[in-house]
Order: sequence, then C-alpha cells, then structure tokens
Amino acid sequence: ARQAPKVLAGGNLNFVRQASAAAIEQAANAGDPNFLESVDMFFEKAGALASPSSDVLAEIKACNNILKVQFPLKLSNGRVELVEAYRAQHSHHRTPVKGGVRMAPAVDAEETMALAALMTFKCALVDVPFGGAKGGIKIDPKKYTIYEKEAIIRRYTAELVKKNFIGPALDVPAPDYGTGPQEMAWIKDTYQGLRPNDINGHACVTGKPLEEGGIRGRPQATGLGVFYGLREFLNYKDLTDRLGLAPGMKDKTMIIQGFGNVGRHTAEFVHKAGAKVIALAEHDGGLIDENGLDIDALKAYHQKHGTITGFPGAKTVKDPYSILELPCDVLIPAALESQIHSGNAARIQAKLVAEAANGPVTPPAEDILEAKGTVILPDLLMNAGGVTVSYFEWLKNLNHVRFGRMSRRMEEHSKQVLVTAIESEFGNGKKLSDMTRKLITKGGTEEDFVFSGLEETMVIAVEDVIKMAKAKNCSFRTAAYLISIEKISTSYRISGIFP
Ligand code: GLU
Repeated sequence: ARQAPKVLAGGNLNFVRQASAAAIEQAANAGDPNFLESVDMFFEKAGALASPSSDVLAEIKACNNILKVQFPLKLSNGRVELVEAYRAQHSHHRTPVKGGVRMAPAVDAEETMALAALMTFKCALVDVPFGGAKGGIKIDPKKYTIYEKEAIIRRYTAELVKKNFIGPALDVPAPDYGTGPQEMAWIKDTYQGLRPNDINGHACVTGKPLEEGGIRGRPQATGLGVFYGLREFLNYKDLTDRLGLAPGMKDKTMIIQGFGNVGRHTAEFVHKAGAKVIALAEHDGGLIDENGLDIDALKAYHQKHGTITGFPGAKTVKDPYSILELPCDVLIPAALESQIHSGNAARIQAKLVAEAANGPVTPPAEDILEAKGTVILPDLLMNAGGVTVSYFEWLKNLNHVRFGRMSRRMEEHSKQVLVTAIESEFGNGKKLSDMTRKLITKGGTEEDFVFSGLEETMVIAVEDVIKMAKAKNCSFRTAAYLISIEKISTSYRISGIFP
C-alpha cells in the first residue's frame, strides 16, 4: 500500500471550510441576486459613470468562454461517481488569463463566471497583466481521501489540457477556496506529463509549493495584501474621521470570518500590528475574546485540533453567524460569497467591512450597510494580493530562476527582473517605498522582493481608488470598478476587433 504522503512545505494543505455555504442559501431565500447577478449589478453601477459606450461595456461584461466537464471518478470502495467541474475565462484583453480553482459543493457555472469576472477587474485594478479566469470543482473535498482528491485534480487538469484551457501562455490556475499548494503541485505534474515539450510548463499554475517552483510569500500574499490595504485606509484621515475612529491599526477591534488561508494570515498580520481580533467565525462555531485573541496560540491550537472551537481562554459559541453581528470597528469576511445579505445586513454593527473574500456582500446588503454609514472596502481591491504574488511566481518561472542557487551576478540580474516589473508595471512613475528603493540599490531576499512588490501594489491601488471615489463622489467599490473599466476599455479600443 502507498504510504500517506508527507505534507509539503510552503503552505497549508488543509484550509477547506464549508461553513459559509449555508449563507449562500440564506441570501437566495432572502431574494437577493445570486453572485453573478451581483457582480453584474456592481459593474453596471460603475458603468453608468464610465466613459466607454454601452457597446463596449457589454463587451467587457461578457464572459468569453465557459467550459463544463463531467468525468467519472473511481472511489476507493470501487464505486464510480460523476464529478462536475468548470473553467471560465472572462476576458482575454491580457493573456494568459488567470484565476484560482476552488473545490466546494456550491460550485456551478454562474459562480465560476462571477469569480472569473472579478479576476479580470482585480488584475486590471492593480496592473497585473492577466485576463480573468476561474475554475471550480463541485465537490465537498472533506468527503474524499487524499488519493481520491489527487485523482480528481489530475483528471480535471487533463480535461483542461485536452480543451486548451491551461498553459503558461493561455490560462494559469492557482489556489482558491478548498485548494492549496498540494493541489497546484498535482496540476503542474499532470500538465508537464501531458505537455513534456513545454519549456515553461512549470508556469502553467501558481501557488505551487516552494520545492515545485513556487515563490516565497505566496501563501501569505492574500492576507498580507488585505493587511496593507486596510492599513492604508485606516491611515486615510477623511475616512477615519467620517467613521469616528482614531487613525491607525493599533487597538482597532476586528472580527474575521474564516480561518483558512486568507483569514488566518490576515488575522496574523493585523494582530502583529496591534489590532485586537475580538472574534472569529468558522464553519463549526465561533470564538469571542474581548481582549483580543492570541493568534499565534490559536494557530497552534487549530493545527493540532483541526478546529478553532474550544480554544482555551476564549468563549466558544455554536452559531458562527452570530459572530458577524457583534460590535467592532472592522469586519473581515474571508470565506465565501453572499455572507452578508438582506437577511442579516441590518444587524451588522461594524463600521468598516473589508472584503477579503470574493463577493461576501450582496448589492441589497450593500445598500442597507451604506444607509447606516458603514463603509465597504471592496474585494477586487482588498484581496488582489494573491494574484499579484502569483504574477511574481509566474515571472520567476518564465525566467527559470532558482533564487539562492546561482552566481551572485545572475541572481542580481534575475531579481532586477522583478524590480523592473515592480517599477514599470506598478510604479506608474510614483514614489516607490523605502523598502523597494533599498532593494533596488542593495538587493534582498526573495521574500523581501515579494513583500515590497506587494506593498507597492496595494499602496498605489488604494491611493488610486481613494482618488477616483473623491473625483466621482462614489463608493470605493464603484471607484475600483471604474478604474478597471477605463483600463480594459482602452485595451479593447487599441486592440480593435478580430476579424
Ligand atoms: N484565488 C485567488 C483570487 O481569488 C488567487 C488567484 C491567482 O493567484 O491567480 O484572487
């Protein structure tokens, strides 16, 4: 018999959380639009203020390709089960198209299309030169053995290869809800097995374990991006004055939904910066500690017990949804879409909602929150850190770079490639941070490069969004969409239409 595989370093394999699936149903029951309809509504709201004609807006809004596959899976008990899976490619104004693959029971064509559209807009917003895509496998990964999951991922990848829906120049998957570095390693291995002549084959997927061509800092990237984004907004005096908050991260009370890859790292970074994580919600319950949870101890507890519930010193509550409704300065949903809907929005007491997840607030919930004066920091901005560092990983792969394993000269040259990317793609001629300037003159570790590029990206994007929101007197979400729409329409206009 095969031995149990060792856990690969470079990331957490186990961040599958089913918790929030129930809220998607509640949102539907409350009559809220579904996720795709929601993204379309946010897009149209911004479109009304944008310069492109309605024809061009329609062209941008549409999802270019959606692939549905159904394939048999032989279970370990000998039975055969049909697996349903998707890959949506929203926009090819930049290639490759890019976006994660999730494994969750709520996956369907429309959810995948909504997520792919969000990828297009977030990449455009932060000047990451990719089009948007997303994949989904409609399973509850908890119900399968690791061998069955490997078979599902490999067969899914083979389907993508057959249909030309994967490749370093075509479409590059990454982790999302329910997947992590291990799944990415299987995708890479399968792709390279089927396309052995592709010299850039290892760039067919990002979020890989370090040993398989991953990049340092990718597992933390989304959470760190949320942290940088939030830090910038909390230092924006107009906003903190409006909310009646003292500027800065220190002593802010925060509630986080989700302790998966995104929620866990977000919790870690805000905690380190002096914020108090006073409550956390997970699929099987929640934790409350008014003095602020000790995130390091909680991480160790979670790793050991597979749950946050029962963490000593904090109060465990059964209903994770009640946690979202506690008073706090910042609520950070870091799980799934449609968590704050017209059924619970009126009870949300946070002053600021920072969307670490994709689509956690429905449009009717947004109206209810805004009427109360609650400010929303939108997903396409706040969680763009993941794909930003995926971009660095892809660049690193295309350069065939192994940091730390080459002559100093070559290493400096390779790092310069990243610096150039940071400067020209993200710098926009604006002032670079001290960290980046230090890196350009003195060099640094791979992680230094990754984090400084990420910080630069988030700082500039927040600045752009604040400026646009002021100019158009609109919400931060509408401002973020507007910036993306303007950039994508420019690209469409210059490229022209084939044939
Ligand atoms: N799944 C992540 C997201 O929603 C990351 C995508 C990527 O790195 O390509 O942004």
